[in-house]
Amino acid sequence: MKFDTKVVRGSSKPDETTGAVVPPIYQTATYVLEEVGRDKGFDYTRASNPTRQLLEEHLATIEGAKYGVCFSSGMSAVDACLKLLKSGDHVICSDDVYGGVSRHFNQVLVNYGIEFTYVNSSNPQEVSDAVKSNTKLLWIETPTNPLLKVTDLNAMNKIAKDNNLLFGVDSTFSTPVFLKPLEFGADIAMHSTTKYLSGHNQIIGGSIHTNNQEIFDKMKFIQKTIGAVPSPFDCWLTMLGLRTLHLRMQRHNENAQAIAEFLESHPKVSRVSYPGLKSHPQHQIAKDQMSGYSGMISFELSGGIPAGKHLMNNVNLCFLAESLGAVETMITHPATMTHAEVPAEERHARGLSDGLVRLSVGIEDKQDIIDDLNQALENA
Ligand code: PLP
Repeated sequence: MKFDTKVVRGSSKPDETTGAVVPPIYQTATYVLEEVGRDKGFDYTRASNPTRQLLEEHLATIEGAKYGVCFSSGMSAVDACLKLLKSGDHVICSDDVYGGVSRHFNQVLVNYGIEFTYVNSSNPQEVSDAVKSNTKLLWIETPTNPLLKVTDLNAMNKIAKDNNLLFGVDSTFSTPVFLKPLEFGADIAMHSTTKYLSGHNQIIGGSIHTNNQEIFDKMKFIQKTIGAVPSPFDCWLTMLGLRTLHLRMQRHNENAQAIAEFLESHPKVSRVSYPGLKSHPQHQIAKDQMSGYSGMISFELSGGIPAGKHLMNNVNLCFLAESLGAVETMITHPATMTHAEVPAEERHARGLSDGLVRLSVGIEDKQDIIDDLNQALENA
């Protein structure tokens, strides 16, 4: 099957009992055993569930992975990956990761003896310089949230292999439509399925994908032991959203390119970051390793913080909301919303200014989005 067919069909077949095209939701906690020691492949929904299994297989097919394991949020998927480590281990992490990820690392996992070093992973030298004798994991987000920095995955793979590191990629912003980290040697591709994969602001979820049986077995163990599993209904909703992923991503990409170009040419905008723009510092790397640039843009206005706030408070079509990757265009102020818990000093050191605006470009008519931004920019 070609990629687009895999997106639409996954591995699902019409329901055997009724012929229903849409798979049923197995909304059950437990399963009756045929006799002691003999079940039909399912014994308790925390361990496995047919609806969740279908989603896991569907996502794995799209990611080009042997295995998929789903979690109740992107954060619990990240947490599951970090549970592969032990106290005393060291992690090298992209410096511009989603604020919830650095909050988890810095405020929870450090208490369990795991050590973190944040580096600008767009510069491979900084990554190799950070490797220590106890480094076990290289954790990369590309493009990053919110600055849209792109990391060269071939270079990361070399560093990971040379130093025997586990190599994980948070590929939430790219989606398997534009990037498949496992093809670049990553051990784990991870997604917040809350975003593009489900695509309609309808659920919170996460997934991890791997070709490595040992990692898969550990992830299944962590999934059933910790129990951060998505509900059957959420899995089903994700599956429905997933079936149009390829079409949505094309439109997100096309709209975002047009809007990034509009913003770049606007006199009130001082800086635009979008991997599809030639001005993006890693445009060539993005072009080489991705087949599209996705739908996320961040930018700053010449009028600084007051101008950014004015813009965000005066949009009509765009929703002022946290989150991204849905069909509706959403505008966010990272400093007070998604990255509010990253200390100001750290935010500024990363280049995440208080005036930064993040735009998740939806799949509406692009001219409507441009018109909305244009009117909101008028008095900014
Ligand atoms: N990774 C990235 C890149 C994100 O943007 C987010 C959330 O915004 C997460 C992980 C966490 O996902 P969730 O909100 O589904 O827990």
